[in-house]
Amino acid sequence: MAAISDPAGPGAAAAAGGLTTEERLLRDTAREFAEREVAPTAAQRDEEESFDRSIFARMGALGLTAAPLPESVGGAGFSYLGWTLVMEELGAADMASAITLSVHILSQYPVVTFGTAEQHADWLPPMLAGEALGAFCLTEPHAGSDAAALRTRAERVDDGYRLHGTKSWISNAPEADRYLVFATMDPSKGAKGITAFLVEKGTPGFRFGAHEKKMGIRACPAAELIFDGALVPASRRLGPEGDGYRIALSALAEGRISIAAACVGVARSALEQSAAYLHQRMAFGAPLAELQGLRFMLAEMAREVAAARALTHEAARARDRGEPIGELSSLAKWTASDAAMKVATDAVQLFGGSGYSRETGIERLMRDAKGAQIYEGTNQVHRMIVAAGVLDRART
Ligand SMILES: Cc1cc2nc3c(=O)[nH]c(=O)nc-3n(C[C@H](O)[C@H](O)[C@H](O)COP(=O)(O)OP(=O)(O)OC[C@H]3O[C@@H](n4cnc5c(N)ncnc54)[C@H](O)[C@@H]3O)c2cc1C
Repeated sequence: MAAISDPAGPGAAAAAGGLTTEERLLRDTAREFAEREVAPTAAQRDEEESFDRSIFARMGALGLTAAPLPESVGGAGFSYLGWTLVMEELGAADMASAITLSVHILSQYPVVTFGTAEQHADWLPPMLAGEALGAFCLTEPHAGSDAAALRTRAERVDDGYRLHGTKSWISNAPEADRYLVFATMDPSKGAKGITAFLVEKGTPGFRFGAHEKKMGIRACPAAELIFDGALVPASRRLGPEGDGYRIALSALAEGRISIAAACVGVARSALEQSAAYLHQRMAFGAPLAELQGLRFMLAEMAREVAAARALTHEAARARDRGEPIGELSSLAKWTASDAAMKVATDAVQLFGGSGYSRETGIERLMRDAKGAQIYEGTNQVHRMIVAAGVLDRART
């Protein structure tokens, strides 16, 4: 299999041209780590469905677990554009590791943005250091896209809140140590009844249910959480009561750019490996690379990668400028996950039987890409967000 090389093509060159020295350094650090320490074991971890905590610890040692978070809370303060470069490198090496890190960061944003100084000091340091792994807990068995219909209850008691209910599909569980949990204090209020809580693993009344048996990103665990009267101190309520849904949506808008970048990495890997294979594989007395039908497929794959990367970087730059990113992050995540799915599926086709075999790692890219069209908002939900934005502007 071809090694991960410099991202090729005009889109990559233009994007790289606008990088600061710090962003280039961050990208190079992530690339070296991804190539040397993540990619070599990706196939085996996928096959065995095993999570490797030492990879997360190395992310911490390299500062990746703090990279996009502000220096004011102990983060490294890199630009969000810099963060997308990290995610692209990890996505190209192993989508499962990329998602573990992306969700870890996702679970910290709300604490940074909505937490008090005491909560920053209490919750963030081991997470920034990569010593404690985070999870973001919104989905429930009956409430995914319609997340405001969640039923996990938060009941106010003298010394805090007691949680009752079940969360499903929670990435990084049960390995994670720190859980950002959304629960309703009054289901009749819909989205306005939801409140956010910081819950530690080991809290009495909090345990794990079924492990999700997934098609892809199998080395990133996901599981059910079961709350049976778990007591959360009042000091671990994040933001005001009833503000949880707003908190969740604002975090997801940032997280979607991160997912988009990881998808660019998946698509890039599929493109690069396909190009190398077309040179090497002979049919009818010549390399496949000489067949125009296949060259055109490769050209279309390159177009998908470049377009997805351009939109992802545009969303990251908008975030760095402090502009609203809701619609742009939906466009980026929808475009990049569809690109990853298309390019990975085409790569399987170009590799023929070898692409369909679990031995080459090409089919893993396709399985890994599929999930990204579903989590952090399905691509139907992103169509809803984009359409709402377009129609709103037409009204004014
Ligand atoms: C690998 C993976 C990891 C995940 N990790 C996490 C995590 O860490 N934390 C977390 O909280 N959740 C997580 N999820 C859950 C994920 O966010 C949900 O699966 C997703 O939001 C969709 O919800 P659902 O599965 O209930 O599908 P549903 O909401 O039931 O949707 C089913 C189908 O109907 C479509 N649909 C629904 N409503 C509409 C509508 N109004 N218009 C048009 N189409 C619609 C959907 O797009 C989808 O195609 C993860 C999921 C996966 C697959």
